[in-house]
Amino acid sequence: MNATSDTVLVVGAGPVGLTAAAQLARFDVSVRVIEALEQPTTESRAVGVHARSLEMLASLGVLERLKALGRRIPALDVVDGRTGRSRNRLDLGDTASRHPYVLDVAQPDTEAVLAERAAELGVVVERGVALTALSQDDDGVDVTLRGADGESTIRVGWVLGADGGHSTTRRLVGTELDGGFHGQHFAMADADVETSYAPDAIRMFTHPDGMGMLFPLAGARARIMFLVDAPPEGRTAPTLAEMQAMADVRMGGAVKMGTPRWLTYFEVHHAQVPQYRFGRVFLAGDAAHIHSPAGAQGMNTGIQDAANLAWKLALVARGRADAALLDTYNDERHPVGAMVVRTTTTLTDVGTASGPQAALRNIAMYLVGHVHVINNAVGSTMAELTINYRDSALSVHHGRAAVKAGEHAPDPAGTAVAVEDLLTTPGFLLVVSGAEHEAALREVLGDLGTVVTADAALVRAYGWPIDGMALIRPDGYLGLVADSAHPDVLRDYLATALRIAMPSSS
Ligand SMILES: Cc1cc2nc3c(=O)[nH]c(=O)nc-3n(C[C@H](O)[C@H](O)[C@H](O)COP(=O)(O)OP(=O)(O)OC[C@H]3O[C@@H](n4cnc5c(N)ncnc54)[C@H](O)[C@@H]3O)c2cc1C
Repeated sequence: MNATSDTVLVVGAGPVGLTAAAQLARFDVSVRVIEALEQPTTESRAVGVHARSLEMLASLGVLERLKALGRRIPALDVVDGRTGRSRNRLDLGDTASRHPYVLDVAQPDTEAVLAERAAELGVVVERGVALTALSQDDDGVDVTLRGADGESTIRVGWVLGADGGHSTTRRLVGTELDGGFHGQHFAMADADVETSYAPDAIRMFTHPDGMGMLFPLAGARARIMFLVDAPPEGRTAPTLAEMQAMADVRMGGAVKMGTPRWLTYFEVHHAQVPQYRFGRVFLAGDAAHIHSPAGAQGMNTGIQDAANLAWKLALVARGRADAALLDTYNDERHPVGAMVVRTTTTLTDVGTASGPQAALRNIAMYLVGHVHVINNAVGSTMAELTINYRDSALSVHHGRAAVKAGEHAPDPAGTAVAVEDLLTTPGFLLVVSGAEHEAALREVLGDLGTVVTADAALVRAYGWPIDGMALIRPDGYLGLVADSAHPDVLRDYLATALRIAMPSSS
């Protein structure tokens, strides 16, 4: 396949690279995806997909396929592992999303669905091809790829390094992860289980020997993990018998494992690169940040990196916006990555605490389980629903609308069509209240997106007095919010904040 100088090369066909590739293809960008592995992985690493990612995956058109392969989990239960009795429950039912649950689905299934969507959009993953070298200048990037036929060098416009925790792209741009590389150790199994615990919650078991986790997947399948001491030198995986022995002691004797699909030990690291943009090369997902699986944030954060970058890169690669727009990828996503590294480290320390600290942890969990507002705050944070870009240069707010630019666009129940469904049409979504300027607004927005008239539920959600407009970015966040619907306000935003070349208004 040929690659031209505005082609984006995505390195790595994990969940992040595939999300980026499908999004870029949706926005009419020429994309090439290379993947070092000859075959997709069978390791079910990330099993929890949260509300904010589900919203984005809905816009990409894959949510229903994913739901068919997974299990909707509406709660997190903290269980006393000695007795099997529930101590507290974090209920996700009231989180402010159309998807108030975690979707537990094995990562290979998520990747297969994303690869299928990318293929529908014309992107085929080139397997057995690895990035080995790159050099860039002002106009493009020369990349050396190694495949079955040896090495070849091609020129592309941009490179997205979504090549995971051991990223080659990261090394080739001369940066590295900065953080801690020695943390807690876990033993993990992916197996069918027989258990009296209903598959209605992710369960965290507290026990003096160390915590355990049980994630129900589709059918009888489950992910099980235990906090363990550092495994003996040379051991990469526990045996099934060792896992079963821990389950018997730490899970109230109520979990029996069948033949496992995957057994592994892993150690928690927490680190991040100092920046995400290096000229024409970007880092996303595990290539940019690695952390504990506590709270199931890794893949979710990476998917949202991809969603944030894809529409910006599309505007620039297609010659519609100035490349300075791409700096906002780092400005918006680097702080989110830093926050995720911090919170998952704290969550792991809290979850694995012993002695007096465990008693404090149990009190905190009691509060989470029994005080509705704390329950909701924790649930929304875990679902990544509290992430916003209010401080971004792309967030422009005029007037007194109730919802702020930089926040995720409200998608209240009662609207005729969900915002995430409207966003299946690629591009921006301009929600307008007040018909006077609608035709002029359509003209200003042109082929950049779609204009919709706000219905009563949306007008209420934005709190517009009479006129108002909100420009929803393709990743679902609010760029411009104004309590006027004047076309000049929109034109100014597109030209100044997004740096889109606008035809002169005459
Ligand atoms: C045990 C475990 C449990 C986890 N549980 C969760 C969870 O419940 N929820 C969650 O959100 N996250 C979880 N994670 C984290 C999650 O798996 C990662 O965050 C996620 O896989 C990152 O996706 P990625 O696309 O960035 O990288 P990866 O999935 O690592 O994909 C990178 C791809 O790039 C390819 N590649 C590497 N180098 C090259 C090269 N030079 N050229 C071409 N291709 C290359 C690799 O082969 C790989 O396929 C877990 C991780 C582990 C280890």
